[in-house]
Amino acid sequence: MNLETGIRWMELFNEKIQNEKDYLTQLDTPIGDSDHGNNMSRGMTHVIKAIEDENPKTLNELLQLMMKNMLSKVGGASGPLYGSAFMGMMKAESSAEDWASVLKAGLETIQKRGKAEQGDKTMVDLWIAVVEAVETHQLTHELIDEAVEATQPLKAKKGRASYVGDRSIGHIDPGAYSSGLLFHAMLEAEAE
Ligand code: ADP
Ligand code: MG
Repeated sequence: MNLETGIRWMELFNEKIQNEKDYLTQLDTPIGDSDHGNNMSRGMTHVIKAIEDENPKTLNELLQLMMKNMLSKVGGASGPLYGSAFMGMMKAESSAEDWASVLKAGLETIQKRGKAEQGDKTMVDLWIAVVEAVETHQLTHELIDEAVEATQPLKAKKGRASYVGDRSIGHIDPGAYSSGLLFHAMLEAEAE
């Protein structure tokens, strides 16, 4: 990952979020409050504008820009959690040996903030699967889709979806889906 790839990553993520905004809202309806599509769409619109306005000069500056905009513009539970992810990644980026370690630091910071464990039916499930796959150089689009799907049979233990208890079973977690888009975008950006 470098600055150029990082910017391409965020542009591709933005495209996917805007294209799938309505689907994210749909996912957040039975087990949430129907705002995840709007939250992510608003946040990524600000990110793209901030990239143009602030013209980050290093990958670290880009990660910091992501952190700030996710924290202040996304809202909901997911904004602070995505903000934490990019904060962890930014802090790790300057000294990390490889990109897997940077992503792992992102995951750890999400967990520090939100206290979700594997199997709680949150974005953490997706991040765990992705970090493991990147560590072993096995990340594929199929693996991402499978990890998103794997949240469907789970019962939510964290966040708003946990309020509906057993009725959360049978629905894909919206934050896992949007994190899936983040990593589909990462693979595409790195492939170019
Ligand atoms: P809200 O739940 O406040 O409406 P969003 O709809 O934007 O916020 O985001 C919901 C997503 O946030 C969930 O699908 C889940 O993936 C994620 N989430 C919620 N709480 C947590 C948590 N404690 N740890 C990790 N992820 C969480
Ligand atoms: Mg919501």
